[in-house]
This record gives sequence, structure tokens and C-alpha cells, in this order.
Amino acid sequence: MGIFENKPPKAVSPKVLLGGTFDPVHRGHILAAHQLADRFGFASVGLLPCYQPVHGKEKHVSVSQRVDMLELAVANEPKLSVDTSEIIRKEPSYSVDTLRALRQKESPKTPIYFALGTDAFNHITTWKDWESILTLCNLIVMTRPGSALVWPDSLKKFHEEFNGSYRALGKIYEFTFDALSISSTQIRMQLKLKRPIDQLVPEPVADYICRNRLYVNTL
Ligand code: ATP
Ligand code: MG
Repeated sequence: MGIFENKPPKAVSPKVLLGGTFDPVHRGHILAAHQLADRFGFASVGLLPCYQPVHGKEKHVSVSQRVDMLELAVANEPKLSVDTSEIIRKEPSYSVDTLRALRQKESPKTPIYFALGTDAFNHITTWKDWESILTLCNLIVMTRPGSALVWPDSLKKFHEEFNGSYRALGKIYEFTFDALSISSTQIRMQLKLKRPIDQLVPEPVADYICRNRLYVNTL
């Protein structure tokens, strides 16, 4: 008998994604990703910048600048990484397409967790092919203390009927966390008004924004 034959089966490490525009990434995103990792015991969380937002948002800097800022923000964060799959695809970023591609790459046993804010969850039934999303991954809905989580009726019905009894997909977790009240919109506004942003974004990101004169003439 070879000495490796009694090795326990390799643990399947989950894939965890926190999507956004990250225009720019800020301390609120980083703290949220850490809380997600700590609360669920994830070894790593991938920040997933969209190539082109599909929910009516404008972008204010180039795609590569948004990615550069994310890379700087996670450089000293061992648990965080940047997932560039939507950037590489170069198409409008529909979550279902991203998750489908990830599911094809991963074993069916790999749990996939897709984290999203309450605001996004409340409108999820307007997303492209939303039912498929739950057949591909688990959702973690990140709620701020005091903000109510509203399950759209059609989602509730689909979730009950689908009843994903399998760890890899189909579950919806509600995760109440302490959010910093920071938004990218607020940062862009501060920059337009020539006010400091050092408290709002990680230091290397602030330097990058300043060096490249980003967000000075946009909102
Ligand atoms: P904008 O002001 O342009 O809407 P944003 O700050 O909300 O930007 P996004 O890129 O839209 O940033 O957010 C990506 C993800 O991070 C979303 O799921 C969003 O709910 C969440 N998020 C945004 N701000 C915070 C925060 N301060 N704390 C925790 N999560 C946040
Ligand atoms: Mg937002």
C-alpha cells in the first residue's frame, strides 16, 4: 500500500465573491470583506469588479484604474484578492454569466458564495436569469443593523420550491454586519470638492487617486 493512500479527501475550499463597481474601492468594502471571512470562516474572499455595470451606474475612471486601486487595497490583506473574471470577459457584467462560468470551472461540490448588499437583494428578481443564480451558488445578503431584509415574493416561492439541500448552492444567508458609513459616491464628491479622503480609502489608494488626479472633474 502506498503511503499516500489513506490521505483524507482534499477539503473543497469555497469560492466567495463580493461584487461591485469599486469606483473607487474604500475602507467600507475592505471591512465588509473581512467581516464576511471572519463570520463564515472563509480563508479568502474575492473582490469582483464589474467590467461594465448593468444596473444603470456610470463609471468615472477606466477599468484598469479601478482594478489597480483594488490591487493596491488588497496588497497587504492576505485574506482578500481581486477576481478579474468579469474584467477579462469584457462584456456587460451579468452576475449569472459570471457564476455560470465559475461553476463550469469548479467541481460541482465546490460551495460558491455570492455576497451582495440588501439594496441589490431587494431587486434581485429584476436581474437577468435570476432563478439560475440560485441554482449556481449560495447568496449571502449583507444587511446593515436596522435595515430590513425584504424577500421578493417570487424569490421566496422559488427558494422554497428549489430547496437546495446541498451545501454548494441554493442557500440564502442573512449576515448582519457593522458597516462603515462610506460610499464611493461620497468619495467622488469629496474629491470634486477638493476635500481629503484619507479616512475613507486605504492609504495606497488615496496616493494613487491623488497621483493620477482621479475624480476631479467627475461625480
Ligand atoms: P456607490 O456609492 O457608487 O453606489 P458603493 O460604495 O456602494 O458605491 P459598490 O461598488 O457599489 O460601492 O459596492 C460594492 C459592494 O459593497 C455592494 O454589495 C455594496 O452593498 C457593498 N458596500 C458598499 N459600501 C459599503 C460599506 N460602507 N460597507 C459595507 N459594504 C458596502
Ligand atoms: Mg452603492
